[in-house]
Amino acid sequence: MVMKTTRRRILKTAALAPAAAGAAPATTGLTAASPSSLYASLGVKPVINGVGVVTVLGGSIMPPEVVRAMEEASRYFIPLPELERKVGARIADLLHAPAAMVTCGAASAISVGTAACLSQGDPAKLRQLPNRDGIRYEVIQQKTHRSGYEHQMEMAGAKVITVETRKDLDAAINERTGMLFFLNKAEHEGAIKMEEFIRVGKERGIPTMNDAASDATPMENLMKYTRMGFDLVIFSGGKALRGPQASGLLLGRKDLIDASYPAMSPYGGIGRGMKVGKEELCGLLAAVERYLKVDHKAEWKELEARVATIRGALKGVSGVQTDRHIPVIANELPHVMVEWDETARGLTSQQVLEKLQAGDPPIHVQKPAKGKLLISVWMMRGNEPQVVARRLREIFSS
Ligand SMILES: *Cc1c(COP(=O)(O)O)cnc(C)c1O
Repeated sequence: MVMKTTRRRILKTAALAPAAAGAAPATTGLTAASPSSLYASLGVKPVINGVGVVTVLGGSIMPPEVVRAMEEASRYFIPLPELERKVGARIADLLHAPAAMVTCGAASAISVGTAACLSQGDPAKLRQLPNRDGIRYEVIQQKTHRSGYEHQMEMAGAKVITVETRKDLDAAINERTGMLFFLNKAEHEGAIKMEEFIRVGKERGIPTMNDAASDATPMENLMKYTRMGFDLVIFSGGKALRGPQASGLLLGRKDLIDASYPAMSPYGGIGRGMKVGKEELCGLLAAVERYLKVDHKAEWKELEARVATIRGALKGVSGVQTDRHIPVIANELPHVMVEWDETARGLTSQQVLEKLQAGDPPIHVQKPAKGKLLISVWMMRGNEPQVVARRLREIFSS
């Protein structure tokens, strides 16, 4: 019964909002979600994604051209190592990188890239990882650049050394140092900025890796960091690029990319468990090709309109303020920030979060602090911004 009402409501609202439903394909190639019998049969309820491109909600939605490429790829046998190299070369060309490789996610790119740096292209050393005998196994990162993905380096044998200042960094580099790790979105938090970090790497002859997984907006970022001189640069395939969720990009120095291939499936390296299928390879290539052609200005305008819709619905609700918010570096796109005094309203952000998730369809947003909600409109489709706006207004008005 519940399914039925939801289904009818979604169909009805989509039909009532032809402008919104029609506006989406022009920029994002995405149309409103229709009910899914597959997920219903599994007892899993699709949600409205007001968080953005996050792995836990399924990353992004693949546009039709990506799905088509995966479907076509799925129908043939091919020599997989050859396909890996050819797709990598094509992506390198498109992104003006010296070399590129598809991995099964940004986290996987961290592992195979670390394995390449630590083994320095020596097949025997690569085979022995994570054993550290004779390996330059130390990876240095700034304290503010802890990403939560340190395990991905450690599984390749790395020991992560943390520093805070340039002086610390200079002192920490020694004959055991194999790589310098930079977390792109922490650029403004660390004492050592990108350019200086790259310079130190070059001067001391140590490869630098930049994890920019969530930072493919604006689009130029895809080319920027390799051009700046990072030896390895990482992006998620399933975030802004809208490629397959289980895909990622490792870009950078040709010798390091060459050393990264044997670290991954189908070779028996440390990343053998990180298989990239022919479908993901072709899907991510299609996603990159598409992303370079998308009208990002039009897409931005569409996001601004969604932000305005949600802010408009909350205008005049007493004690509630909204702001247009653009995060720095990661997910650099228009969001809505909602703010209120929890005590004055007798309503916590946790309670609002729960009310949104308990609704039908469930709505997921972020709670950055007390009395605050952060709403990403990026992954919304069709009339979802209107649905979110209405529900927020209901919650704050009752
Ligand atoms: C999302 C993210 C990752 C992991 O990306 P996957 O593609 O899910 O493996 C790694 N690093 C950062 C900074 C991220 O935001």
